[in-house]
Amino acid sequence: MNKLIVGNLKMNLITAAERDRYLESVKKEVKGKELTNCELVLCPPSLHLQSFISENENKEFAVGAQNVFWEDRGSFTGEVSALMVKNIGVEYVIIGHSERRRYFNETDDVVRMKINSALNVGLSPICCVGETLEERQNGKTTEVIMNQIHAGLADVPVSKITSVVIAYEPVWAVGSDAVPTSDEIMEVRILLKKIFADTFGLPVAEKMKILYGGSVKAATAKQLCIDPGMDGVLVGRESLIPMEFVKIAEIIDNA
Ligand code: PEP
Repeated sequence: MNKLIVGNLKMNLITAAERDRYLESVKKEVKGKELTNCELVLCPPSLHLQSFISENENKEFAVGAQNVFWEDRGSFTGEVSALMVKNIGVEYVIIGHSERRRYFNETDDVVRMKINSALNVGLSPICCVGETLEERQNGKTTEVIMNQIHAGLADVPVSKITSVVIAYEPVWAVGSDAVPTSDEIMEVRILLKKIFADTFGLPVAEKMKILYGGSVKAATAKQLCIDPGMDGVLVGRESLIPMEFVKIAEIIDNA
């Protein structure tokens, strides 16, 4: 099964020159590498989506958005819709990232509407779930993740569920240097598979891609992705360094 290596570039690559240097560097790093078991997905700020698509002549990576609005069009000042990004060739969209939940008050209900909108236009949503440190310390990890999945995916029909990618991102591991153990990640993977098996049946659960995200580096890719049997990674900081990002992909690809 193809692994997914997703780079969340967040609100970086400020100038056109920075963006172009980044793209050149990614292409240079990927060139000649046999990444046969994984797909790279880069998620730049929405302003750069078009350039990432047009400058990707050899289709070295797929392009994802970091967010979309849930309506297709209309009077929603400042928003960009799933339909708009789909129309320029975007394939994925990150939904429910912990930074959006924290800074933009995105609730599970908002996540649900955005996931539906993405699926309706043919995008694959990468739905982020994960507990805070306090929730983990209080033994609430299972409950939090179950609630986020049940609420966020409440309207997804069985015919579309395998287009959804889940990213388990413990909030306390994102942007920090703290990471869970392989066993802790595997426990969440098993929980997620069980939720999908109970809701949609075992064959569907087996097909669902479950990524890990939170402080992934080349040095930790084995512990955080390969050992717990994850289907790939969502990478923040290290995706800004093309050499490191591609190194992570190579490690996972060769596993
Ligand atoms: C993220 O923001 O999704 C993320 C995983 O960030 P980092 O890799 O920097 O922890």
